[in-house]
Amino acid sequence: MHTYDPIDRFVAAAVAWPDRRALEVGSEKLTYTELDRRSDHLAAQLVEQGLSGRRVAFSARRDSSWAYTVFLGLFKAGCTAVPLLPEGPLKRWRSMLEGAEVDSILAHPSPDALEVELQQAGREFNWIRMSATKDTRPFQRKPIAPDAEAYVMFTSGSTGGPKGVAVSRGNMSAYLANFLPLLDLGPTDRCSQHFALAFDLSMHDLFVTWSVGACLCVNGDLGGLRAASWARREEVTTWFAAPSQVAVMRRSRTLAQGSLPLLRLVLFCGEALPWELVEAMHTAAPKARILNLYGPTEATIAVTAYDASLPTGRSGVVPIGKPMGENTVHILPFDGLPDGEGELLLGGPQVTGGYINSKETTQKAFVQLEEPKGTWYRTGDHVRLDDQGEIQFIGRIDHQVKVLGYRVEPGEVDEALMTQLRGGNAVTVAVTLNGVVRLVSYIDVEADTTALHEHLRRSLPPAWMPERIEQMAELPRTANGKWDRTALMKMARNETA
Ligand code: AMP
Repeated sequence: MHTYDPIDRFVAAAVAWPDRRALEVGSEKLTYTELDRRSDHLAAQLVEQGLSGRRVAFSARRDSSWAYTVFLGLFKAGCTAVPLLPEGPLKRWRSMLEGAEVDSILAHPSPDALEVELQQAGREFNWIRMSATKDTRPFQRKPIAPDAEAYVMFTSGSTGGPKGVAVSRGNMSAYLANFLPLLDLGPTDRCSQHFALAFDLSMHDLFVTWSVGACLCVNGDLGGLRAASWARREEVTTWFAAPSQVAVMRRSRTLAQGSLPLLRLVLFCGEALPWELVEAMHTAAPKARILNLYGPTEATIAVTAYDASLPTGRSGVVPIGKPMGENTVHILPFDGLPDGEGELLLGGPQVTGGYINSKETTQKAFVQLEEPKGTWYRTGDHVRLDDQGEIQFIGRIDHQVKVLGYRVEPGEVDEALMTQLRGGNAVTVAVTLNGVVRLVSYIDVEADTTALHEHLRRSLPPAWMPERIEQMAELPRTANGKWDRTALMKMARNETA
């Protein structure tokens, strides 16, 4: 099959393997024909309501086939999917809806408390109530232009709230074209679905699986404690997760020798991958090929890959490898550092058009270079080329961190806190203890920290919550007047240990 358009691939798979399983979520098991019909039905209604080409939001719950059908229906109808993290909170949903200028929201057939709250408060939205059920309505699919928006997903922003990245249909096709030829996935595969549907790694789960006629198996347990027994029971053959999920499995001793014998492919992405986790996974799944993928939302899912299948007793962090397919990379040197070390820039057909709600931030992050010519996305990642020409991830050049796989800008926590501090300052730092990243916030005014925690819970998702909010008479500064984050990190580490 030569097309890499995600919907062309799904429809072709439905023609080739109509009765094969496409999706298993909870007790629901859908064949390709069933999922194709249901999403056709939804797409036909979306087109009838004149929503093609429009952004449509929905609560991206992983507890039923609904959100999965919605992605397909929206893509078939040429709408932009704007999935919202089901955990909210409502304030953040509102800022995303506003940022993406969304006026249409697909109402879940059995809304949860958060959605009911938005329905009651958000009367300005066009609530679309439609079924994605067993009814069928014929749908005449039209080709979708590669530059049409496929989805908007939000990443944490250090100032001014979350940033919406618009990913085009062409960006998605480029990802599939760059990724699929590397592997021999096929219709007998059973692929895991662990990632939250409001984050872009989930798009790999859905559209890589459906591109090859395989079955998408949804693991409702995001924490990972029961993930190994789930994978055995569901006879999963390919596994995709953030390293922190596997770290939890390793700590809870659920990765016993040979305990995942059916796994033939293990993919990691989203965070630095320690070699010790590769070893642990290799022990549990001795037949599996293990790849470390790397990439930001702004360059569509993953851009580079490193084959870590044969752990060699190495320590430290696994390289992020080389660009896949037509992707390109450039290392922007830092002053005073050796050649081959600096900030990683990404180019090629997966690089998106930028942020929908901030032209200025887009211009800063997506830069035009004369040499090498083209548009490049500045990742903010500090990397070095090793002797084998593989890219080694060293760290961030800013304060961004990953908490349980979620990209968090501590500045976003500071902003939320400072709205409550009447002129006081807040600085949030991240410390890693026993492989777990924790956030600690420091403030320089007296405040009711219980009320502050409550305010944060109403403003930001769970992964953004600081473990503690500490009051200080004065926050430390460096010689040039900036917040002394190193001193705060040291303090946080001592107090957390
Ligand atoms: P996101 O947009 O949420 O996918 O986050 C992208 C960021 O996650 C990158 O810029 C890196 O800082 C980090 N990241 C993703 N994959 C890896 C990896 N394999 N190794 C190290 N860091 C990674």
